Amino acid sequence: MKIPFTHAAPHHLGGPLRFVLPAVLVLLFLAVLLWLPWQAREMESNERQEQLIADTLWVEQAVRFELSRNEDALATLSKDLAAAAPPAIQARIAQMLNNGHELRRVRWLGAAGQPRLEGGAEAPPGALAAPSQNAWELARATYKGRYSEPYQASPGGRALVDYHLPLFDGGAFTGSLSATYDLKNLLDETVPWWFAQDNAISLIDRDDKVLAKRAAAGPGRGVYTHKRPLDLPGTAMVLVTDSVKGTPRLLPNLLVGSVVALALGLLASLAALWRHIARRLAAEGALRQQMAFRTAMENSLVTGLRARDLEGRVTYVNPAFCQIVGLPPEELVGKAPPMAYWAPEAMADYQQRFAAVLAGHVTPQFETIFQRADGVRVPVLIFEAPLVDSDGRQTGWMGSILDISERKNAEQLARQQQEKLHASARLATMGEISSMLAHELNQPLAAISSYTTGALNLLGRAAESGAALDPAVLRPALEQASVQARRAGQIIRSVHEFVKQREPQRQLVHIGALVDGIGALIELQASKHFVAIQTIIPAALPAVSADRMMLEQVLLNLTRNAIEAMQDVAPQRRILRIVASVDAGQVAVSVIDQGHGIAPAVAERLFSPFFSTKAEGMGMGLSICRTAIEFHGGTLGHSANPDGGTIFRFALPSQP
Ligand code: ADP
Repeated sequence: MKIPFTHAAPHHLGGPLRFVLPAVLVLLFLAVLLWLPWQAREMESNERQEQLIADTLWVEQAVRFELSRNEDALATLSKDLAAAAPPAIQARIAQMLNNGHELRRVRWLGAAGQPRLEGGAEAPPGALAAPSQNAWELARATYKGRYSEPYQASPGGRALVDYHLPLFDGGAFTGSLSATYDLKNLLDETVPWWFAQDNAISLIDRDDKVLAKRAAAGPGRGVYTHKRPLDLPGTAMVLVTDSVKGTPRLLPNLLVGSVVALALGLLASLAALWRHIARRLAAEGALRQQMAFRTAMENSLVTGLRARDLEGRVTYVNPAFCQIVGLPPEELVGKAPPMAYWAPEAMADYQQRFAAVLAGHVTPQFETIFQRADGVRVPVLIFEAPLVDSDGRQTGWMGSILDISERKNAEQLARQQQEKLHASARLATMGEISSMLAHELNQPLAAISSYTTGALNLLGRAAESGAALDPAVLRPALEQASVQARRAGQIIRSVHEFVKQREPQRQLVHIGALVDGIGALIELQASKHFVAIQTIIPAALPAVSADRMMLEQVLLNLTRNAIEAMQDVAPQRRILRIVASVDAGQVAVSVIDQGHGIAPAVAERLFSPFFSTKAEGMGMGLSICRTAIEFHGGTLGHSANPDGGTIFRFALPSQP
């Protein structure tokens, strides 16, 4: 599984610029957010003002319409005055008054201003009020209907306005038709209730004096006001409207409030999102770094890594593994056994192990061989462990593979060198032994020589004397010669065996038999230094699996050292003991002397090759002994002998 890792540079704006745009946008957004309610209030305010103006216009139109309707009615009446009978005119006036409650009084005045006919409930009789008189004059002078300035019939009374329509008969002024308006009633009649509900409406004169007022829902607040001149021929009044509504609040309604709340919520979540993204980016960065680190680590590993799923298909290999098996990852990943790198000779082994893996039994560590693409065999050491995902479920197996070719080569080289060392050490030992051999063989050879010489003398003497020789006389001498010759032969044979160079061969070795076999050689050395030998070997001692020759050499070395250590002590103390025992499943052999012992400085370097305290010593003996014992899976050590001297002890695993 080659983990795809893209190195594409993260695509973002460089440096601080990255933050400028969002910051500007957020500031803009906040500004709009603040501006929005203000703008909404402004708009509402404008809208109300415009509405008020429109409504005021409408009211003005309504008032004008009412007035002009009455003007028309009077004009119509004026045409019928001459023809109609007074009761009929009276009835028409009553009808007018009935139709328009704003009319307080309707009169027909004569040319001198005297009333000729009158309608209206509480019409006060008598002369016209001064402003009305002025209007009457003006109407007569201009030949047109005229309105008077507002006036009051009595102090504190309602404001009234008169309309005079001049009457002419063939150019002569004959009087007028006059209508008196009650301004308060005029407002009440013409202003619709829905408008009065929202606004206070008043009529004011030139001096801003309030003439009449309608304030159904209470007085206005002075926030939204509008003035509309009500120009009538002869008078000038102003219609003033004043809304009862106050300034709109800043957050006037639920809609704007919820928009603001939503926007603030949006900002908050934006900030949270930003934080989240920042954290995520940081985590991604860390992950990327970790991935790069991991990839670098995997690539630098000399240990091969191979992951397999539960079906045994390869899911991942690292470069080291590819190098070990000499195959590219494409030829490995996704493949199921038998694998391309399985060596034919070990196929059965692989199959068996693979079946075990499928059954869930993995061998945690084993050695095997892989076959490279070029046919070269690679010895490998494999460690395998279950691959577990984050939920604790096993998803496969992960193996690490060590190429142990070099180790194997080194081991073989070491073995060969060890063999050579053994051989040279054997030869060195034999060098010494051979001189002793020469000395020792002298004895049997001299004995043989003297026995045979004696026998020959006897034969010679018998021939001279001519007497018959009794064979019984010759027999003892020849028998002794034969014994001595056999002994010499035995010594030479064992030395020959010892010197032969060969591969180590493990076999079951009994320590008793081993000591017996080299007993003659040990004795040879011991007798030279007048050392007595004691062997204590239990008959039921278990055997060990070892190379007989190597063990012989170990024993020979240890006994030779022991004997040499005792050459300067009193003769009665020169005792060499060889003691064998069973100890915790191991066969232990101790070589005990009563010699000069080992000084601490010597003990430190005892097993170093070529360390010797002897003038003629090679210093290889103990080194070879330890190697040989460890080769057999045993241990070699030494300790001081409580009776003086040293104990060398080696232990080997016993064989049942
Ligand atoms: P060599 O016998 O050629 O000196 P070894 O490796 O056999 O080489 O021994 C190294 C040294 O260990 C000896 O020179 C000797 O000083 C010391 N040594 C070995 N065995 C004994 C022993 N039984 N008692 C005292 N010293 C010993």
